[in-house]
Amino acid sequence: MDMQTSFLDRLFESGLLIDTGVDGLYGRSGQFEDVIAAFERLIDTFGGADGAEAMRFPPGMNRALFEKSGYMKSFPQLAGTVHSFCGSELDHMSLLECMEVGDDWTKDQKATDIVLTPAACYPLYPTVAKRGNLPKTGGLFDLQSYCFRHEPSKDPARQQLFRMREYVCMGTEQHVTDFRQKWMDRGVEMMKQVGLDVTIDVANDPFFGRAGKMMVNNQRDQNLKFELLIPITSTANPTACMSFNYHQDSFGLKWALNLEDGSVAHTACVGFGLERIALALFHHHGLDVKQWPASVRKALWG
Ligand code: ATP
Ligand code: ZN
Ligand code: MG
Repeated sequence: MDMQTSFLDRLFESGLLIDTGVDGLYGRSGQFEDVIAAFERLIDTFGGADGAEAMRFPPGMNRALFEKSGYMKSFPQLAGTVHSFCGSELDHMSLLECMEVGDDWTKDQKATDIVLTPAACYPLYPTVAKRGNLPKTGGLFDLQSYCFRHEPSKDPARQQLFRMREYVCMGTEQHVTDFRQKWMDRGVEMMKQVGLDVTIDVANDPFFGRAGKMMVNNQRDQNLKFELLIPITSTANPTACMSFNYHQDSFGLKWALNLEDGSVAHTACVGFGLERIALALFHHHGLDVKQWPASVRKALWG
């Protein structure tokens, strides 16, 4: 049987992705970045009139706030922490000896105050809570961040460091579920404009362990998460390129996010997987952007 060149290999050969020797950790070419920038401008044209407050956080967040978020209860397998050498000169000497003989030199590294951001919206909730009550009209935020998830894979659509663009809405149940529905409709329309066929389906997060099974069932039964799926590496298992998440009042309660009248805010977020969307475009329209259909090029570059 012929060895089929995988999509990942073709992305490396074309230079769109740059191999670093680690699965899921890739450099990106100027062309790849240009597609992401163009798609983000398309997102702006759909979301721009809503008046969201833009904020950009670095790809690391406050460890104490990460601990409070409960991420380690649900997704310990995905988290990444930043550790550093904090020792004396003597410790430095044994560190170098350890490296010299190929022993584990990382075991004496100490946790810093920073962990890698797991989703673009995680640093937002405590930031907004610090401001005091939200106005009656709620809050709307526009975020983008590199996110880390320890899920090494040969699937180019499953990376360990990738960018997520998000809109986050805080307000009443009605307000935030309307927001989520609006973005599901917009997501379908946007992908149509760039020539991608999509489906939307109910989904769940990969909650860890046996207790996580209950969380999965609860999330699906209550329709808390939907995904917009596009075939990339498989038609049988299309890839989630957007997600639409309704958190009920769980983040509101956790972070004391309250509305003007004292009621607990409900929250919802919609996330765009920017690398996945670029990969879907390259997979569907070909690796040479110049050959993409005129309508797609027009939607992206005017
Ligand atoms: P999946 O089910 O494929 O693991 P997810 O449910 O974990 O996706 P979310 O947590 O909802 O995804 O993240 C929002 C968006 O970020 C996803 O819709 C996807 O487009 C993107 N994303 C998530 N994980 C990755 C990854 N490992 N590599 C690239 N993009 C990702
Ligand atoms: Zn989010
Ligand atoms: Mg995932």
